[in-house]
Amino acid sequence: MGEVWIKEAEKLGTGRIGGSMDSPSAPGRVVWHTTESGHGDTSFRNVGEYLIRIGAEPHILYDPTTDRLAQYGPLNQSARALRNDGATRTNRTGRVCIQIEVLAKASRPFTGYWRPGPNFRALMRAIRSWGVPDVWPAGSCAPGATRSRSTWATKGGHFGHCHVPGNDHWDPGNIDRAAIMKAAGGSSPAPGGSTGDSGGSSVARYKVTINGLEYGYGATGAHVTAVGKALVATGHGDHYKSGPGPTWSDADTLNYQDFQRSLGYSGKDADGVPGETSLKALMGKLPTKPASKPAAKPKAKPVVDLSNLVAASQRDPGLRQGGTTHPADVKVVEAALKAEGLLSASYAADGSYGSLTKTAYAAWQRRCGYSGPDADGIPGKSSLEKLGAKRGFTVKA
Ligand SMILES: [Zn+2]
Repeated sequence: MGEVWIKEAEKLGTGRIGGSMDSPSAPGRVVWHTTESGHGDTSFRNVGEYLIRIGAEPHILYDPTTDRLAQYGPLNQSARALRNDGATRTNRTGRVCIQIEVLAKASRPFTGYWRPGPNFRALMRAIRSWGVPDVWPAGSCAPGATRSRSTWATKGGHFGHCHVPGNDHWDPGNIDRAAIMKAAGGSSPAPGGSTGDSGGSSVARYKVTINGLEYGYGATGAHVTAVGKALVATGHGDHYKSGPGPTWSDADTLNYQDFQRSLGYSGKDADGVPGETSLKALMGKLPTKPASKPAAKPKAKPVVDLSNLVAASQRDPGLRQGGTTHPADVKVVEAALKAEGLLSASYAADGSYGSLTKTAYAAWQRRCGYSGPDADGIPGKSSLEKLGAKRGFTVKA
């Protein structure tokens, strides 16, 4: 005996909708319907009452966007959402024939935007408790689905209204059958069965590019962290177990979805993947791609030719007489001496290896440990290389 009443479900109506099954020895099954209505609590109430009024109650009413779950009658008895197939009472076929009305439209498969939660898992737990296997014996619910009497009579598993013989409704639309099982969690061993499409996910996993930046599952960057922080700051961080971080996860999607809903979006517009409007609302303005800094061009190090410098230091008679030799080389050394605090700024860029420059260079030589005639202000290879290493030039000797 499986679960008759799902403890997580609200009760609707009197709790009495059908009766005993006609073929309890046939395998248990589920029939998925869509109400062809909107979702949300107002639809939930209105459609919930409407189905009672017209005497077409399913067992279960479910809102795929809020995970709200309600039950009309015991799962081990029949419901009333199917038409008979001639003399066959389709509502009473099987050990159980659990019928679920989902607040959605067949034209927009709810698995594309739904958000199944604990109540959905409770529903699937109850379904499995009756030995209903995780399979779709009649296959896809896409337009063109076939209604096979023999499949219906003999196979257990999940069906769409579109698969039931003697009926003419085409709900629930082309839902992702694998997503249904995946959202249920766990598994129900289904020998020889197949769940059809694989890899369905209940969380949207596509990316969008807005203003040159990627958002959505797998996107990475500082802008992803920034969105996460903004979500937390606006009270939409419930799904983070850790983070937010720079890689977009399902938790980011779910939090963003909460934020979209807070803006009044629903359905596909609230799938947790940012659009321009919601992103602007969250961040104040659309984040922009940080201008990629051109890699700072390493300044080519100046090269000082030692022989030029020696020539300049020996030939330049000094500022008073004007004229310079190899001023480019001299200027580099003057700048270095200035940086060492050995040459005043007023002489540091004249390019003339005059007496002040010579004096300054002699001071540098002493710093390098030379003395006497080795500290005469005329550059040598070793002292010049030391100055270059410290002040950014190389020496051509
Ligand atoms: Zn239906």
